[in-house]
Amino acid sequence: MILKEDAPFAQKNSQQHLSMKKTRIKKTLCKLDKHDIEENIDNIATLVSEPKYLCLKCARVSTKKKYLCSPIKIKSLRLP
Ligand SMILES: [Zn+2]
Repeated sequence: MILKEDAPFAQKNSQQHLSMKKTRIKKTLCKLDKHDIEENIDNIATLVSEPKYLCLKCARVSTKKKYLCSPIKIKSLRLP
């Protein structure tokens, strides 16, 4: 796997200290077990730091909908 460390990702939100590593998570956040979470804790922290999607089944959040089993766009919800 190629790690592109200088990828031009930081357009919208500055990612502070979390560098954009390629995520190694192969399933949805909903399906992760304790071991998966411990192994990927930095990736998961990045995925949930600026959530755009909410899982309708489990109420988990993620920046990418592919990491949720039943994602809905948070923006599509009527928030105050
Ligand atoms: Zn889910």
